[in-house]
Amino acid sequence: MSEYFEVIIVGGGPAGLSTALIMGRSKRKVLVLDANDARNRVTHASHGYLSRDGVKPEEFKAVGLSEITAYPTVSYMETKVTSLHKEGSRFHVQTETGDSFVSGRVVVAAGMKEELPEIKGLQDVYGSSVFPCPYCDGWEWRDEPLAIFGSEPWLIQYVKLIYNWSRDLIVFTNGAVDLPAADRTDLREHGVAVVEEPIVELISEGGELQQVVTHSGAAYNRSGGFIMDTGESQAFPLPEDFKIPYTTLGGVETKEGGETSVKGLYVIGDAKNAFSGLLKAASEGYELAAVMNHEMALEDWQLTNHITKPGGQG
Ligand SMILES: Cc1cc2nc3c(=O)[nH]c(=O)nc-3n(C[C@H](O)[C@H](O)[C@H](O)COP(=O)(O)OP(=O)(O)OC[C@H]3O[C@@H](n4cnc5c(N)ncnc54)[C@H](O)[C@@H]3O)c2cc1C
Repeated sequence: MSEYFEVIIVGGGPAGLSTALIMGRSKRKVLVLDANDARNRVTHASHGYLSRDGVKPEEFKAVGLSEITAYPTVSYMETKVTSLHKEGSRFHVQTETGDSFVSGRVVVAAGMKEELPEIKGLQDVYGSSVFPCPYCDGWEWRDEPLAIFGSEPWLIQYVKLIYNWSRDLIVFTNGAVDLPAADRTDLREHGVAVVEEPIVELISEGGELQQVVTHSGAAYNRSGGFIMDTGESQAFPLPEDFKIPYTTLGGVETKEGGETSVKGLYVIGDAKNAFSGLLKAASEGYELAAVMNHEMALEDWQLTNHITKPGGQG
C-alpha cells in the first residue's frame, strides 16, 4: 500500500522547501519529491535574497535541505514525479523510481524549465554573462557594453529597463522585427542600435561573452547581455483532465495564495508566476503552508469535536 502524507510537495526549490519547513514545524507529515534540477542551476551566484545576496545556488539549496530535514515530520526524496491524479479526496503521486504515494493535499512548486533559442554559443554564456533578469544580475554588469537579445512586443520596455544598468546597449533581434517607427526613433535618440540581421554565433571564453557575430560577418564586441525570451515552460505540466488554465506568461492560473480549481491542489513559485525570484517563491511557500495548516487545524478541530464526549471521554 502507498504511504500516506498529509501534504506532498512536488519540487524542492525555495517555494517547495519553504512550504515543507512551515508544514513540518506545524507537525504535519510532509513529503518533498524533488528532481533537484532548478532553472537557476546555471548561475554562479544568486542575488537579491536578503541575508543571502551572492549565494551559490547549490549552497542555498544545501542549507534549505539541512533545515527541512532537521524536522522528523518532513521527508525528502530526490526523484522526479511522473504522474499525479485524484481519486475522491485523495491524490496519487508516482515517481520515476516507481514509488507511489497518497496525500490529502498536493503543492506543485516544480518551477519552469528553459528551452533557449537556437543561437550558436548561447548555452555557453547563459547564466554566466547573459541573463534573463536585471534585478538578479544587472548590478554585476552595470555600465558594461551589453547585448539585448529579443524581439517580443515589449522589447522597448525591456530596453528601457536594462538602460538603468548600462547605457552602452545594442539590441539583437535575430531577424527583422516589427518595431513601431516611434520606438525606433526613441531607441536611436538614446544611442541604442538595433541589429536585425540573424545572429550567426556568440563568441565567448569561459562563459564570458566577447562578440556577437551576425549574418553579414559583422562582429560586435559585447561583454554581457540580457535575453527576453528563454523559451520557458512548465517543468511539471499539470494533468490535462484537471482543466486548469495557464496565464499568458505560461504560469498556472490560481487564486491569490496558489489555490487551484481542484480542491487540495496548490501551485506556487515560478510554476504560478513564470518568474518569481527566490524571495517571492520562498514567501509564497511560507504563506501557503500557513493557510493550509490553518485549514487542517480547523478540520482536526471538527473531527475531535465529533469523537470526544463532554468530560473528556473518547
Ligand atoms: C539564469 C537564472 C538566474 C536567476 N538568478 C536569480 C537571482 O539571482 N535571484 C533571484 O531571486 N532569482 C533568480 N532567478 C529566478 C529563480 O531561480 C526562480 O524564480 C526561483 O528559483 C523559483 O523558485 P521555485 O521554487 O518556484 O522553482 P525552482 O527553484 O525552479 O525549483 C523547482 C524544483 O522542482 C524540481 N522539479 C521540476 N519538475 C519536477 C518533477 N516532475 N518532479 C519533482 N521535482 C521537479 C526542479 O528540479 C527544482 O528542484 C534566476 C533564474 C534564472 C533562470
